[in-house]
Amino acid sequence: MGIMASIHKKLLGTAVKSLARYTPGLLIDKAYDRVKERIDKEIPYPEGRDWVLKMFDVMRKKFPQLSRYVREKAVDVFLIKAEIEGAKKRAALKEKLGYWAPFLFVVSPTMRCNLRCYGCYAGEYTKESDLPWELLDRVMREAKDIGIHFVVISGGEPFIYPHIWDLLEKHNDIFFQMYTNGTMIDKAAAKRIAELGNLLPCISVEGFEEETDKRRGKGHFKRVMAAMDALAEEGALFGYSATATRENNELVSSDEFVDFYQNKGCFIGWYFNYIPIGKSPVLDLMPTPKQRIERRKRLAQLRKEVDLLIADFWCDGTLCGGCIAGGRHYFHINNRGDVEPCVFCHFACDNIRDKSLVEIIDSPFFRSFRRRQPYVTNLLRPCAIIDNPHVLREAVRENNAHPTHPGAEQVITDFAPFLDKYAEEYGKLADEEWEKNYLPSYSEQERRILLDYLNWVKKENERIFAPREVKA
Ligand code: SF4
Repeated sequence: MGIMASIHKKLLGTAVKSLARYTPGLLIDKAYDRVKERIDKEIPYPEGRDWVLKMFDVMRKKFPQLSRYVREKAVDVFLIKAEIEGAKKRAALKEKLGYWAPFLFVVSPTMRCNLRCYGCYAGEYTKESDLPWELLDRVMREAKDIGIHFVVISGGEPFIYPHIWDLLEKHNDIFFQMYTNGTMIDKAAAKRIAELGNLLPCISVEGFEEETDKRRGKGHFKRVMAAMDALAEEGALFGYSATATRENNELVSSDEFVDFYQNKGCFIGWYFNYIPIGKSPVLDLMPTPKQRIERRKRLAQLRKEVDLLIADFWCDGTLCGGCIAGGRHYFHINNRGDVEPCVFCHFACDNIRDKSLVEIIDSPFFRSFRRRQPYVTNLLRPCAIIDNPHVLREAVRENNAHPTHPGAEQVITDFAPFLDKYAEEYGKLADEEWEKNYLPSYSEQERRILLDYLNWVKKENERIFAPREVKA
C-alpha cells in the first residue's frame, strides 16, 4: 500500500474529506508525520525521499498564507484524488496492463502566444491549430477514469486558449500546474485562480529584469513582478520556471536568484536545460557539461537551505529513478493532439483523436522507451535526448514515429554528431561525479538498495516491455 493510501486508511476514509474541507492544515500535518514514518520503505531513491518531505514541509509553511480554496484543493484534489483515489484506479489498470500507468501528463492546448520573444516561433500558429475544447474535455474525463488527477498545461501561452477557464472550472477535481509568461495574470485573474484553488501557475523568467526584458521585451519583468504580487496577495500557490542556458546558468542557480523568488512568495522553482529542439535552435546556447554538473550541485544544496521546492527537469533524475518519458510517469499531448513520449521529444506515432489514452500508453512507441529505462544506472545521465541520444533514435526508427513539427527531426539527424559529443563529454563528468561524490554521500546500505533496485528495474522493464509479436 502506498504512503498516501495508508494515511487515508489510518485517518478513516470519508473523515479525511471533511478534514480536507474544514481543517486542511491539520491533515497536512498528519500526512507529513505519516509520510516521514513510512518513506524509507516506499521510495528507494534517497534524494526522492528528501524531495517529498521537503514538499510537505514547504507546503505546511505556506499554508497560513493560502486562500481557503487553495488549501482545500491542495488536500482534496492533490493529496486525496491524485494520490489516493487515483492510485486505486491506477492499481486496477496495473492489474490489466502489467505495469503502472503514469501519474500525470502535460498538454499544450495552444501554441499561440501574446508575446514575440526572441527565438520563439509561437507567432506562426493560428487559432485553428488549437486543440478543440471537446477533445480536451474528453481527454480530461478519460484521464480521471484511469486515475490521473494531476495535469500540467504548457504551450504557447495557456491563458490565450479561449477555454482555459472552462477547463479549470469544469475539471475542478484535477490539480493543474501551468507554464505561463504571466502577462495575462492581473488582479482579477489572480483572484479567480485563488478562488478556484486547483491551479499552480509557474511564471517563466530568464533571470532578473535585464535578462528577462532582453528576451521577452521591455517592461516584461515588471509585469511578472505584478503578477506574482497579485497571486501572493490573493493567497494563490505559484512558482517560477527558468530555462538555463550557457549565458544564464550561473545566475539562475545562484543564492541571489533563488532567494529573490522565494521572497516573492514562490512555492516552487522549476528548471529546464536549454536543448536544441524547436525551430532554428542555437546549439551554443546549451549549457556546457560542466555547467550542468555545477548547476545540479548548486540546486541540490539550495534545495536543503531554502523554503522553496526546487526541481530541475534534467538534473533531478536522482529523485525519480531517471527518465520519466513514454508514460513511465508522464507524456505530452500537443496542440494537434499528437501524443509525444516527452514534452521535449517531438515525435509521435499516435493522435488522441484516433486512440484512447490507455491504447497510447500501451503503444509500441511508448513501450520502446520504457523497455530501455533506466537507460543507464547512473541517474545523473537520465535523458533519452541529450544523455543517451541513441535511445531516441532507436525508438523513433523502430516505430517509424513522425516528427511533430517541421524541423523536429533535426535532433536525430543534423544535430546527432553534436549530441553524441555532448553525451560523451557530459557522460564522463557525470560518471566521475556519481562515483566520487554522489554515491559516497550515502551510507553503504542506501547505496546498495539504490543500485540493486535500479538493476532490478532495468531487467524487469526489458521483460515487461519486450516487443510483442505481430499477429499475422
Ligand atoms: S527524455 Fe529527457 S527530457 Fe524527456 S523525460 Fe526523459 S530525461 Fe526528461
